[in-house]
Amino acid sequence: MTDTSYDTRLGLLIDGEWITDRETQPVLDPATGATLAQVPLATAADLDRALDAADRAFKSWRAVAPQERAAVLSRTAALVRERADRLARLATLEEGKPLAEAKGEVMATAALLDFHAGEAVRIYGRVLPRPVGTRSLVLHQPVGPVAAFCAWNFPVMNPVRKLSPAIAAGCSVILKPSEETPGAAVEILRCFEDAGLPAGVAQLVFGVPDAVSRQLLASPVTRKLSFTGSVPVGKHLLKLAADTVMKTTMELGGHGPVLVFDDCDLDRTLDILVQHKFRNAGQVCVAPTRFHVQQGIYERFAQGFAERTRALKLGNGLEAGTQMGPMANPRRPEAIAGLVDDAVGAGARLLTGGTRAEGEGFFFAPTVLADVPLASHAMNEEPFGPVALIGAFATADDAIAEANRLPYGLGAYCFTENGRLQNRLGDEIEAGMVAINTVRLSWGDAPFGGVKDSGFGSEDGPEGIAAHCITKAVHIA
Ligand code: NAD
Repeated sequence: MTDTSYDTRLGLLIDGEWITDRETQPVLDPATGATLAQVPLATAADLDRALDAADRAFKSWRAVAPQERAAVLSRTAALVRERADRLARLATLEEGKPLAEAKGEVMATAALLDFHAGEAVRIYGRVLPRPVGTRSLVLHQPVGPVAAFCAWNFPVMNPVRKLSPAIAAGCSVILKPSEETPGAAVEILRCFEDAGLPAGVAQLVFGVPDAVSRQLLASPVTRKLSFTGSVPVGKHLLKLAADTVMKTTMELGGHGPVLVFDDCDLDRTLDILVQHKFRNAGQVCVAPTRFHVQQGIYERFAQGFAERTRALKLGNGLEAGTQMGPMANPRRPEAIAGLVDDAVGAGARLLTGGTRAEGEGFFFAPTVLADVPLASHAMNEEPFGPVALIGAFATADDAIAEANRLPYGLGAYCFTENGRLQNRLGDEIEAGMVAINTVRLSWGDAPFGGVKDSGFGSEDGPEGIAAHCITKAVHIA
């Protein structure tokens, strides 16, 4: 019998106080559909209090020495590592991903905190050459209180990607993670608290998303919006942010093209792509989505992909040996079923999967479709699920045109041994991140973000800290 006990006390963290006695909404276990817990929802008065605390905390936190900000982040990283098993288990319970994936997410999260600890003391400005006795300085100062909203797909990493660069830069943050995965976020805030982060610097709220974002973004206290989620919600929030002309970082959806050329190392390419495609049941913004394969290896690629996919073990993420868990919520299998039916109706060949799995929970079988018409919905809308879409191309020009066809531009993948072509792909693909002969796009020290409808402003890397700073020129005569 799998132990599904959920031993975290959910609450809102406002001005250093944990609040639990509010109206609630249920948190579901995606592997069974059962209710795990109830998450409290903030009232308008709670949000006003959080804004007031964020304003006060910003004024004191920005004055704290960068070395002390770095020390808090390092201590948080150590606590995240110490509590890794508990954090990973919560992420699996709430979101469904296999435990080993959740553990990997926790370790990457600790590494990101360590990276930001290092960066906190490297927010360098410039001194410009001027006549003796005079100076011009360029300063990078924290932008102010941040309103941050993030999705459910990485319950541990997503909150930290918002909090860590803001705290390193000297900002305060009000974070609203997904109400569907609140426990991991609560435990992350406890790590920050136990590491000595002063009250009000990082606050946690849950609520009715639209009401929370409207109130926080309308306030003159909020100086930055940081959002991870879908393109339509991102566009809506950008419009709200325009009213107070605030700084923004938008990490929105993608439709990752994968260009596979005849000269690639086919077995290695298939091994890493199948594993990466079905990571987190395909619910990853940089998931490889449409696989464009050169004609010479097309059928071998499609059959090899399907064969490896059939071997994947679908199950409860808490159980040993599970390679793909359920989808995170009941909306996802519903959406994927619609996209698969539409593609098959338009002429796609179903090589494996295509159905919701039997029983309770939000499962959908890992699915491979070949010869998928470009006009089908799945080839144009972000599926955000365990479905691989395969189609053929003839020349490099055709492949690049296809990679650039959609309004998305987040992650793109290419597999070829031809060095000249690798350079061309890096130059010409319209994406924030291009991976060549690898699937790893997220490194902590490298900028992570998109172009076109996939958003703008990088998270991670020194760029992620710069996104939380204003630039000021000071001229002294
Ligand atoms: P959704 O757009 O309804 O929600 C995505 C996230 O945004 C949720 O966490 C939700 O709480 C939040 N949100 C929704 N409305 C909001 C508002 N008005 N103000 C503030 N936050 C708000 O979509 P969904 O059904 O939960 O997920 C499916 C879609 O989300 C996918 O198609 C995918 O594009 C996108 N998504 C993207 C990422 C990413 O990493 N870029 C992550 C998860 C989901």
